[in-house]
Amino acid sequence: MDLKGKVAIITGARRGMGRSHALKLAKEGAKVVVSDISQEECQKVVEKIKKGKGKALAIKCDVSKKEEVEEMVRKTIEKFGKVDILVNNAGIAQFVPFLEMTEEDWDRTLDINLKGYFLCAQAVAKEMAKQKSGVIINIASVAMGQQGIGFPNLVHYCASKGGIVGMTEALAVELAPYNIRVNAISPGMIETPMIDPLKSDPKMMEAMLSKVPMHRVGKPEEVSNLVLFLASDKSSYITGSTIVIDGGWLAG
Ligand code: NAP
Repeated sequence: MDLKGKVAIITGARRGMGRSHALKLAKEGAKVVVSDISQEECQKVVEKIKKGKGKALAIKCDVSKKEEVEEMVRKTIEKFGKVDILVNNAGIAQFVPFLEMTEEDWDRTLDINLKGYFLCAQAVAKEMAKQKSGVIINIASVAMGQQGIGFPNLVHYCASKGGIVGMTEALAVELAPYNIRVNAISPGMIETPMIDPLKSDPKMMEAMLSKVPMHRVGKPEEVSNLVLFLASDKSSYITGSTIVIDGGWLAG
């Protein structure tokens, strides 16, 4: 067990990739805080972890709200005594044509996908700095800009994911003296409810898959394996990196 004795917080963990990361880290010995906007749904994930003899706690937290984020970290310390790992995973992808995008659409996406990552990273980093160790993993996307993919109807989403990569690099530099490593993961298309709108249009789905050399979507567990690696001491010299996991999409 690579994470025995560690305490991990996963945001947006009631379903999709966050749920998979929570199950994986718990299986590897971490005590896991399963956090999302629905307490009831988080509790279901916690029950599953407990059935497998793992330790977990469900905490309702809207990552865009500072008070809720601080409360999540406070409850984590109260229950498990510390926090070693944060997986900043909660996110939304609202498809809306740019010319119709409202200020509210923009703010909501940036509040959750980018400000939420800042709030969670800062709240845990204050604890990690005291203990002089910690790992922060930010889930970005191949929509991150530069060599990434510009997705139509997702301008706000792409902007948030680019912001995450910049934030990851700056945080890695600033937090290295505290022995806190910060990395990002940029997944391609992964089989979660987030890609349901794409799947409802088989032609668009096929057009996207035709650009992926492995010609399939990824499984959440495949991303969880990378989360585990970055969370563990096996990646002890990796910080400030963004690792792409996309079946070769960006290379193609
Ligand atoms: P998902 O199944 O939709 O899971 C995202 C979770 O975040 C949901 O449970 C969602 O709850 C929750 N959430 C939304 N707003 C929140 C908030 N304010 N506070 C806390 N939790 C909130 O999507 P996923 O595919 O697993 O996505 C996980 C991460 O991977 C996201 O950051 C996403 O951008 C990224 N990503 C996904 C893909 C992909 O192909 N699936 C590719 C690249 C990157 P609700 O359902 O109630 O909104």
